[in-house]
Amino acid sequence: MQFSDFGLESRLMSTVEHLGFAEPTEIQQKAIPAAMQGHDLIASSKTGSGKTLAFIIPALQRLTKNRALSKRDPRVVILTPTRELAKQVFSQLRLFTANTQFKAVLILGGENFNDQVNVLEKDPHFIVATPGRLADHLTQGHFYLNGLELLILDEADRMLDLGFAKQLSQINKAADHRKRQTLLFSATLDHAQVNEFAIELLKKPKRIAIGGAF
Ligand code: ADP
Ligand code: MG
Repeated sequence: MQFSDFGLESRLMSTVEHLGFAEPTEIQQKAIPAAMQGHDLIASSKTGSGKTLAFIIPALQRLTKNRALSKRDPRVVILTPTRELAKQVFSQLRLFTANTQFKAVLILGGENFNDQVNVLEKDPHFIVATPGRLADHLTQGHFYLNGLELLILDEADRMLDLGFAKQLSQINKAADHRKRQTLLFSATLDHAQVNEFAIELLKKPKRIAIGGAF
């Protein structure tokens, strides 16, 4: 299978080629088409298997295709458990948004709060964040989630292990549910709290597990 088999928007497909990705990994082969069909996903595969592109590509496909669907930003929120992981996801996302109209921002705990308020007020299309800090901005009304189209939880198991359940619920409740799709990624699905959480956040999710993860 090739990336060209997914039927990606031509601009997105050119970026994939330009970055030198030829063959999708196993998780990408399963997750990208399912996400493009609009399903909520609960997906797992081991570290290093390419989960980041498995959610970045369908997110970009959706926004590229439905340019005018939502007038309210942000349209995609990606949450990760740690600052380090958020930075890694953001740098991969930036490779794809670099020469587009899409604006992506990084909101991390431990950084200057007021600088982040300014950044959020500029209506970014994508927010990559750690949950604690993003929930603080939400509580204080620095941005709204009523135009959110995609909520992506990266390493959901670790976010729950780090005690972010409350912030994740808060972010979930603030987002419009009618048109929203949710993609949950985890290194393992053999985690009781992840499964409980999936019931709270996801609608009829498709389960994708690579490598007998559950
Ligand atoms: P995970 O989140 O599953 O731990 P990452 O998304 O961080 O994995 O990907 C690990 C590495 O694999 C990254 O350096 C990424 O650029 C690379 N990678 C991802 N998808 C592909 C692909 N289809 N072909 C080649 N390399 C890839
Ligand atoms: Mg990852």
